[in-house]
Amino acid sequence: MLAREAQEWLVELLKINTTNPPGNELAAAKYIAGVLAKDGINAELLDLAPGRSAVVARLRSSAVADPSRALLLVAHMDVVGVDRSKWSVDPFGGVIKDGYLWGRGSIDDKSMVAANLAAFLAMKRGGVHLNRDIIFLATADEEQFGDASLRMVIARFWDKIASGFAINEGGQVVLKSGKVEYVGVQVSEKVSINVNLTVTGKGGHSSTPSKDNPVVHLAAAVEKIGNYNTPVHLTSIVRRYFEALAPLEDDETSKWMRVIDTPDRGEHALRYLADANPMWNSMMRDTIAPTVFQAGFRANVIPSDAHAVINVRLVPGDTIDVLVNDLKKLVNDPTIKFDIQPEGGFAAPNSSLENDFYSLLTRVTAREFGGAPVIPFMSTGATDSAQLRLHNVQAYGLRPMPLTEADLMRVHGDEERLPLASFAKGVDCLTRIVAEFSTNH
Ligand SMILES: [Zn+2]
Repeated sequence: MLAREAQEWLVELLKINTTNPPGNELAAAKYIAGVLAKDGINAELLDLAPGRSAVVARLRSSAVADPSRALLLVAHMDVVGVDRSKWSVDPFGGVIKDGYLWGRGSIDDKSMVAANLAAFLAMKRGGVHLNRDIIFLATADEEQFGDASLRMVIARFWDKIASGFAINEGGQVVLKSGKVEYVGVQVSEKVSINVNLTVTGKGGHSSTPSKDNPVVHLAAAVEKIGNYNTPVHLTSIVRRYFEALAPLEDDETSKWMRVIDTPDRGEHALRYLADANPMWNSMMRDTIAPTVFQAGFRANVIPSDAHAVINVRLVPGDTIDVLVNDLKKLVNDPTIKFDIQPEGGFAAPNSSLENDFYSLLTRVTAREFGGAPVIPFMSTGATDSAQLRLHNVQAYGLRPMPLTEADLMRVHGDEERLPLASFAKGVDCLTRIVAEFSTNH
């Protein structure tokens, strides 16, 4: 029943085009406030920029709130853009076809907005006595991490969302051959930082080239950096991830996953795993990807400067200054200037694997998904959860909707679609988690 209702909300949300930029999340926020109002809940719009608002609502457990106990259900309303020519249906039409709901945001992240709304309303309708406040929050500007994002909600409206626990995107229920293989709960994430490389040299006529052509210097530096393998740094979460994943992998992979910490075979094991899967490689070390290369404007002119950007993803705990120092030594070219861009991410502590909430997540998801193993992991991509963890919120990435690898590939890509059965299952699972945590603990 509830899942059916939630599906209707999701369809309506997909029809509201919240492509970021410009976002236009205010329209979606108003729609959500309307849904909540029908159940007598007064939601509040948090205005962040023209046309851009978050929406927040609260179920109270007592007259005096205890923020350290509160549970925050957070999801983002904005979506990335589409290439309409690659879609067989209207990406903003809320089309249901072949057992799927098609549309931009059907997975990322409007499915979670609707599921959170369902779990939240279930608690209101149940009329049970809550032992903690439950906060519903739908955010804006997640995809650009800009001035209307959760970061700004925290900066300007913290008292409205202050909480001790949160569920956000970032996790996954991995569906393989019709069966849930495992549930991944995101408890940590890498830190994204950009570094500018600039070379200034002697420009001039290309008929008389000299050794200080900036294009040549920059190309050599980028070549070295792009092929550099940073040292391995295994965090406790990543160790635990490989340990838990080992029994699910093929014999060869499994064998190497089990020996990453042994002195004799560890090194080979890590090399094997790094080569086998770029995500595993990224989980075990800082990665560096050259992403921008700009130089020159005319075929017969040597430019006087050249510019590149490298995107670094740090393992939390590593520092960018140390890495940049290593790169300077590696490049060994004083004409290359390194500048760390100031608006990079911040390393946040892991969410705990020891508290009541994590054990409840583990217990309920395992039960809901046929005894599947529940595996904590560090995501290589960034989410808003780092911001929450920096404010002492135990935030967990969990999208409790079973999805295949192929479905997940469509996120941010063409023909994003959500299996309706998975959505119903996810609504059910999330509602149980919220109900158990807010009434029994
Ligand atoms: Zn997302």
